[in-house]
Amino acid sequence: MTLRRILTLPDPILRKKSNKVEKVDKNIQNLMNDMLNTMYNAPGIGLAAVQIGVLKRIVVIDISKDPEKKEPMYFINPEISWKSDFKESYEEGCLSIPDQFAKIERPSKCIVKFLDYNGSKKELKAEGLLATCIQHEIDHLNGILFIDYLSKLKKNIIIKKLSKNKKELERIVV
Ligand code: ZN
Repeated sequence: MTLRRILTLPDPILRKKSNKVEKVDKNIQNLMNDMLNTMYNAPGIGLAAVQIGVLKRIVVIDISKDPEKKEPMYFINPEISWKSDFKESYEEGCLSIPDQFAKIERPSKCIVKFLDYNGSKKELKAEGLLATCIQHEIDHLNGILFIDYLSKLKKNIIIKKLSKNKKELERIVV
């Protein structure tokens, strides 16, 4: 397993649409292992392949709180087939938008269809944190980021902050 570099805003790759996985083979499984490792190391509770620069429709999630008991979940070609009318808010952050958080409202429950680690068809009804996390990650596969749900003003403040940070980082010479 290899740690991959997580892309951050304003990297334009984060705005690209990811492609469907045609076949779940060893390469895809290795990629998912790397993604999971990278996510745990960050640390985060969800990661989409595009965040490490791979434009494939793959998401890994682990919302278990106990670091001793890992519960990794793998979603290949995930698709939301139903969303509840009832909405819920979480203070969301994103590994690709470091240190920025905002309250985002999303449907509190959803049903997601996907292929699992072995390429088998699965369907899952998610609620609460898992439902929010799945929706956040599927947005990544479509080039959408949580800041897109904010007002233009709030969104621009965050983008400006991150562009500034990036410039300062690039200036360091060792
Ligand atoms: Zn994210």
